[in-house]
Amino acid sequence: MSYEIVCGLEIHAELSTATKIWCGCENAFGGEPNTRCCPVCTGLPGALPVLNRRVVEFAVKAGLAMHCEIAPRSVMARKNYFYPDMPKAYQISQFEKPMCIGGYVDVETSQGPRRIRITRIHIEEDAGKLLHDAYGTGTLVDLNRCGVPLIEIVGEPDLRSSEETKNYMEAVREILEAIAVSDVKMQEGSMRADVNVSIRPVGETALGTRTEMKNLNSFRAVQRAVDAEAKRQEALLAAGKKVVQETRQWDDNRGESRGMRGKEDAQDYRYFPEPDLLPILVTPEDVARIAAELPELPAARRARYVGTLGIAPADAELLTRSRAEAGMFEDVLAQGVGVRAAVTWMVVELFGRLNTTGRSAADLPFGGADLGRLVALVEAAKVNPGSARRILAELMEKGGEPGRLAESMGLMAVSDAGGLSVAIATALAQNATALADYRSGSAKAFGFLMGQAMKAAGGRADPKLLSAALREALDGAGNGEA
Ligand SMILES: [Zn+2]
Repeated sequence: MSYEIVCGLEIHAELSTATKIWCGCENAFGGEPNTRCCPVCTGLPGALPVLNRRVVEFAVKAGLAMHCEIAPRSVMARKNYFYPDMPKAYQISQFEKPMCIGGYVDVETSQGPRRIRITRIHIEEDAGKLLHDAYGTGTLVDLNRCGVPLIEIVGEPDLRSSEETKNYMEAVREILEAIAVSDVKMQEGSMRADVNVSIRPVGETALGTRTEMKNLNSFRAVQRAVDAEAKRQEALLAAGKKVVQETRQWDDNRGESRGMRGKEDAQDYRYFPEPDLLPILVTPEDVARIAAELPELPAARRARYVGTLGIAPADAELLTRSRAEAGMFEDVLAQGVGVRAAVTWMVVELFGRLNTTGRSAADLPFGGADLGRLVALVEAAKVNPGSARRILAELMEKGGEPGRLAESMGLMAVSDAGGLSVAIATALAQNATALADYRSGSAKAFGFLMGQAMKAAGGRADPKLLSAALREALDGAGNGEA
């Protein structure tokens, strides 16, 4: 019998607000353990939470970017559980009345585009961290992460393969990055996913029993976990056994999961409306204002690059990978340079160098406008491509203004007739043999003389102008002698 995978994700993303969700503590990764917390975020008795307005704005932004309906009134709820990472023994989340309802994310897959439905997006607080085996055999508790604002994006079980699951998660990450509500650093846990997996015979419409793997924090782990879990369930069914609904722990090093505990139901958490917080009201004006602030989303931008600007899909993909890279490309174009040249300098020259040095566009000491000015210098033949590459290398080290760098590095192109003819005269005078070869019809000799003339111009001549001037000098001289 052949089975199909049915998968749904619950994605947690930490919001990159300056302060935490209920208090004024700094919202930042790391720090000395238990230094970024106060009585409110650690939930000491009597402490009262006050909702951070930015959290609501960020959540609405995420909801709009994923085509959700924004609830005019949503309610915080207590989710009760005991675990040492949450001293107050409950997490403040949302339950019956979440902030964003419905919605979808369009995902590219090898089978074509797919629309993955979103059930809801709600806001909640993050918990602290338990450090196992960090000190002797005990477990240490770091509460710095308590009260870090989260959104949970609950997706419908619409995913049908591990590839689709991974691509969906990438699409969500890309959107959250583009709208700047989360730093989406998976290695720091800013974005992580709980993965629900079941299988069913192809053609069956009812859902099979699902298992859940929590807190996967890389695309690779998600893809491998889905495949391994589907395989495990298939083996169970083939052996005439049943899949048990449970939470399983994925071990990415071993490439396998193990059962942890029976899956909790909502009723196990004894949810009730949070008595210390008022309902959250979002007006249509709020929604309209936040909608107006939304930037062009990556998928729309890619479509525009391909459809309107005529950029190859693979290049459009690279140019829209991150907010920093897409913004940089827009700034290059804003300098009025040609699209083709702008793409080449971004993708081949800049990304090529970033790849080999392992750096990212976000922390370069220069911006897209600078790169655009450099491209404009090349287009105007004021700097030749070879010199421009040297200027780009300098920009990447220290930043600066391309025109001034060209001057100070002595790289302004030799493009005046006088400068070119001096270089050509020097080359011809020093290479009599090549000159004779050219006269006797050797095409190769022209290339050699061109190289010599470029050398004589200190590598700074505009190749097109130099080539034309050399051609004229040779043919002119040849005619004169004949
Ligand atoms: Zn605090």
